Amino acid sequence: MFDALTLKKQFPIFSHYPELIYLDNAATLQKPLAVLDAERFYYEHHNANVHRGAHRLATAATEAFENARHTVAQFINAVSDDEIVFTRGTTEGINLVANTWGNTLAAGDEIILSTLEHHANIVPWQMLAERRGLTLKIIQLDAQGALDLTHFLSLLSNKTKLVAISQVSNAIGSIQPVQWICQQAHQYGAKVLVDGAQAVAHSVIDVQEIGADFYVFSGHKIYGPTGIGVLWAHAKLLNEIPPWQGGGEMIATVSFERSTYAAAPYRFEAGTPPIAQTVGLAAALNWLNQQDRTALAEHEIALRQQLEEGLAQLPAVKIHGQSANKAAITSMTFMDAHPYDVAQFLDHQHIAVRVGHHCAQPLLHSLGLSGTLRASFAAYNTAQDVSRFLSSLQNTLDLLDES
Ligand code: PMP
Repeated sequence: MFDALTLKKQFPIFSHYPELIYLDNAATLQKPLAVLDAERFYYEHHNANVHRGAHRLATAATEAFENARHTVAQFINAVSDDEIVFTRGTTEGINLVANTWGNTLAAGDEIILSTLEHHANIVPWQMLAERRGLTLKIIQLDAQGALDLTHFLSLLSNKTKLVAISQVSNAIGSIQPVQWICQQAHQYGAKVLVDGAQAVAHSVIDVQEIGADFYVFSGHKIYGPTGIGVLWAHAKLLNEIPPWQGGGEMIATVSFERSTYAAAPYRFEAGTPPIAQTVGLAAALNWLNQQDRTALAEHEIALRQQLEEGLAQLPAVKIHGQSANKAAITSMTFMDAHPYDVAQFLDHQHIAVRVGHHCAQPLLHSLGLSGTLRASFAAYNTAQDVSRFLSSLQNTLDLLDES
């Protein structure tokens, strides 16, 4: 049995807000003490700028930074540390690919996205498509909110250059068969970018097994700090791609006539990197590695099931997204109440949820909705959290019904 109550004690925020029921985990996760301590320790003991420093603090900072890269590489089973590019987050990772590799695409080339993408995996491709005359093709969903895989296959052709797909939908929780998608896309010579933002904290990620060309995620959605993320790609591919931002750290030589660039991953890391954040991220991954990941995943899914079974008893509630393969995320609307009003009432009862379009407006539009209320789970949530959510929701709906 996964002991969420004991684990919760490792998260200082809950000692400051003992009544807090935090169900906004798809937006960002709370941080265990191990992560906060690691960042503080870094600033107290190792702080300096990385690379080329001629003093011991610079060596310590560089070691901490490169050790963090190694930890990330191992965590996602990359072949080498050179495959790990540090970014600001998922959004920056996708923009990096769109603004570098994307520039190799030509008019008439096609990019396949799906209806359930986060705006971060739509807008950069739209901007690229406008710049280079590309066509975006969009995979439809079936009635359960899963990808219509037959439709996906019908969109693939020799014109397809990229399939960019989220592994888990942040809005309705559908899990995509990314490994299979990669196999299909590769048959047409297309590359695949997998947005792992909602997957990394909740399932064990093996980039070699998935077989994508690019994998991106954010530190803050895996118990780590904000301001840090990861772009993974094979070193060979990274070294074929021109740099994006120019500056210090990313060069081999600079003269006014011409500059040459460092090998990957450094060619994509212009300027002073977010060093402390990489240390915090590594601490988060080490912390997660110490947990029983299988039990943790089962725990989160069990909470989602408990929630959805409870919601099924409330006739005024409609759940959106019932894909057979679904993460610990539940989106809902109410017959006679606006999600925003419900969330405000829940907040007064110390229950934190998210409302709105969840940065997935095309998905919400396809469901005929402008917003939902979303509850999403993490390791520190408990069965009591779900019961309290359900009873508070019931009270709220009764109250709003009377008014
Ligand atoms: N993709 C998905 C599926 C997400 O859930 C998010 C964050 N909500 C992002 C991309 C963007 O992540 P970030 O804001 O950390 O860059």
